[in-house]
Amino acid sequence: MKEFDYICIGGGSGGIASANRAAKHGARVALIEGKAIGGTCVNVGCVPKKAMWYGAQIAEAIHKYGPDYGFDTTVNQFSWATLVASREAYIERIHGSYDRVLAANKITWIKGFARFVDEHVIEVDGERYTAPHITIATGGTPLIPDIPGAELGIDSDGFFALKEQPQNAVVIGAGYIAVELAGVLHSLGTQTHLVVRRHAPLRHFDPIVHETLVEIIEQEGPTLHTHAEVNKVERLSATELAVYLSNGETLTTDCLIWAIGRTPNTGNLGLENTSVVRNGQGYIEVDKYQNTHASGIYAVGDIIGKAELTPVAIKAGRLLSERLFNGQSEAHMDYSMIPTVVFSHPPIGTIGLTEQQAKSAYGDSEVSVYTSSFAAMYTAVTQHRQATKMKLVCVGKEQRVVGLHGIGFAMDEILQGFAVAIKMGATKADFDNCVAIHPTSGEEFVTMT
Ligand code: FAD
Ligand code: NDP
Repeated sequence: MKEFDYICIGGGSGGIASANRAAKHGARVALIEGKAIGGTCVNVGCVPKKAMWYGAQIAEAIHKYGPDYGFDTTVNQFSWATLVASREAYIERIHGSYDRVLAANKITWIKGFARFVDEHVIEVDGERYTAPHITIATGGTPLIPDIPGAELGIDSDGFFALKEQPQNAVVIGAGYIAVELAGVLHSLGTQTHLVVRRHAPLRHFDPIVHETLVEIIEQEGPTLHTHAEVNKVERLSATELAVYLSNGETLTTDCLIWAIGRTPNTGNLGLENTSVVRNGQGYIEVDKYQNTHASGIYAVGDIIGKAELTPVAIKAGRLLSERLFNGQSEAHMDYSMIPTVVFSHPPIGTIGLTEQQAKSAYGDSEVSVYTSSFAAMYTAVTQHRQATKMKLVCVGKEQRVVGLHGIGFAMDEILQGFAVAIKMGATKADFDNCVAIHPTSGEEFVTMT
């Protein structure tokens, strides 16, 4: 049996980050990954999604905004295949850089799927491995509903495998992925329908965000269907599906995409041979140090079902290795105030409490709210004016900023710096003390009255 100091199961964001950090501190590390190195983010998540989003931004610049900026924007052709090829070539370069870093850190990459035989013995394709410290970072998989014909649809993995652009697409779901994929398809010219089962997509975000998103979708597309669930799906022909909705509508499409959430990858891991405990939704239970209920077994990233974001998995993985291999006995991830962006059209940036959450936590009278609403200048110069809306949620006499929410042009790039300030405990007065940068959208956050 091969022995290591540390084994990470899953070569995605969390596993790679934790393995590299442990190796930097001198640990003998094995990383077990059965599919492509980089996991969800690099192969079927953030990276290919952002490449498609950039493609969609270029389409919008050409078709929507270009003419009023004086360009003759006649386009002979858009090649989906070229965009996909560029995207995949970029991902191949990322794979190469992962290979080089793992090799430089002398990490053993075991290619295959891991299964616990007991708490400290792992089997991969008949070979056994052991280590005193083992981290589970196996991520998640898209959910498909249990309704007739559901298998006729694809999921986000299937979206990234599309070789041709669908002429018509129906995207089901109301979270990040549904909004992002529907936006990309629509902007690239696919006739796109977004179907949500309640009143709005992203309904858990602050109302300023999801209400504005709905307004913009209603003006610019895709076609939004609310209060609609899918009852069944049928194949009409080799290329056409019928999607029957609970509101009585039937949509015909050549591409149905399920984006209704994800489920943790714990099947076939052999967790029954350990004392690792899962919660009701199947996520692995951990304490604030990422310890599972089994001594010497840890879990980071999507598998714990908390803030399922790449930087969260990376940070948790690195901090765990600092604790285990660099004597930082108190190192642990702070899951509060995590900034996040939805790459919608336009993008959304948010951190901290919604207005309602702040009022519930602190009482209505303790909460003060500042908002701003304007047409982003990039769009206002053209006939396609698009709203930007922003909100600051502050608490107490000192008006500590506990929430910042925005939707609009460039919001994806505006958020990060403000997140630093908010994490440091900035107040409204601190925001106001900072001189604005003009003319930008971000300046609105420091000039709100
Ligand atoms: P993963 O990256 O999922 O890695 C887990 C790895 O474990 C996989 O490679 C899997 O093959 C492997 N594995 C599973 N079981 C085993 C086993 N038994 N043995 C060996 N290996 C195993 N986050 C952002 O921050 N920004 C974004 O813009 C963003 N966009 C996204 C877009 C999409 C479409 C999706 C699906 C996700 C997106 N995310 C985004 C979320 C982000 O991808 C995840 O939060 C992140 O990848 C989680 O990292 P992880 O290490 O926990 O798991
Ligand atoms: P989410 O959990 O974000 O959203 C899924 C939503 O779909 C649910 O909230 C629910 O909304 C709706 N839904 C659930 N079941 C059904 C159903 N049967 N029929 C119709 N709608 C349904 O999941 P995603 O898969 O979009 O994303 C998973 C996670 O990945 C995200 O939470 C995020 O952490 C991460 N991610 C991050 C990105 C980023 O950082 N930009 C991009 C993509 C993913 P409702 O209850 O309102 O109907």
